[in-house]
Amino acid sequence: MSTYLVTGASRGIGFELCKQLLSRGEVVIAAARTPEKATNLKELEGSHSGKLHLVKLDAEDASSIKAAADKLDKEFPGGLDVLINNAGISGSFVQCSQETVENVLAVHKVNVLGPMLVTQAMLPLLRKGSKKLIANVSSGAGSLAGKLKFVEDAEIRKTLPYATQALAYKQSKAALNMQTLTFAADLKDEGFTVISYCPGWVATDMGLQGQELMKTKENPTWTTEQSVELQIKLLDGMTPDKSGGYFQHTGEKLDW
Ligand code: NDP
Repeated sequence: MSTYLVTGASRGIGFELCKQLLSRGEVVIAAARTPEKATNLKELEGSHSGKLHLVKLDAEDASSIKAAADKLDKEFPGGLDVLINNAGISGSFVQCSQETVENVLAVHKVNVLGPMLVTQAMLPLLRKGSKKLIANVSSGAGSLAGKLKFVEDAEIRKTLPYATQALAYKQSKAALNMQTLTFAADLKDEGFTVISYCPGWVATDMGLQGQELMKTKENPTWTTEQSVELQIKLLDGMTPDKSGGYFQHTGEKLDW
C-alpha cells in the first residue's frame, strides 16, 4: 500500500486515477481547487473512508500549494510515495500568429509553474516516502521531435489546423518536459524517479474540447477508464533507472 497525491482530482483523468488507485487499496490524496464542490470525490470518500483524503490545492496559487503541503505534513508523518502532477488546462486554440500573452501566461501558470511549485512544496514529504516517484502528466503536444513533421509535411499542414495552433499548450508541455529532466537530474542521487508521460487522447472534458477546437470528427482514442488503467500500469513499472524518461501511457518511450 502506497500513498499517492493526485492534483486536478475533481474530474477527468485525475478523478479516475483516484478511483482506480483506491479500488486496489492505495491511500489517495485527491487535490482539487474546490474540493467542497466535488460531489464525485465526496461520494468516493464515503465508500473509501480513511483511504481517501481531500485537500484544497489551486495549482495557480503558491499560497494554496504551501497550505496544502503544511496540512499534509501534519497528517502524513510517514510522507508521500507518489506525486502525480495532473492538473492542467488547454487554453484557447488559435493560429500562432494570433496567440495572446494572456492565453500563454494563463496556460503556463497552471501547466508549468503549477507542477514546479507543487513538486518543490511536496519534496520534503516525498523524501520521507518509499517510492520517490514524481510523474508529470505531459502530452505528445510537447514533443519537439513529434512536431517536426508539421514543418516537414505539407499535407499535414493543409489538413490539420492544430499543426499551427495551440501554441500556448504545446509550449507549456515542452516546458514541463524540460522541468522533468531538470528535476530528474537534481533528484537522481536521492533515488527519485521523475518522468513525463502522455495519457493519449482521452475522452475527458479537455479531450472533447480538443476535438471541438481542432474541428475534427475524429473521436478521442481512449476512454478515461482505459487510459488510466494503462497509466497506473506504467507508473507501477517505474524504477529509478527510468528517471528522466518521457513515455506514452501504453509504455513506449516518446521522443522529446
Ligand atoms: P480535464 O479538463 O478533464 O480536467 C482538468 C483537471 O485539472 C480538473 O480537475 C481541473 O479542476 C484541474 N485544474 C485546472 N486548473 C487547475 C488549477 N489551477 N488548480 C488545480 N486544478 C486545476 O482534463 P484531463 O483530465 O483530460 O487532463 C488531465 C491532464 O492530462 C492535463 O495535464 C492534460 O494536459 C493532460 N492531457 C490530457 C489529454 C486528453 O486528451 N484529455 C491529452 C494529453 C494530455 P477544476 O474542476 O477545478 O477545473
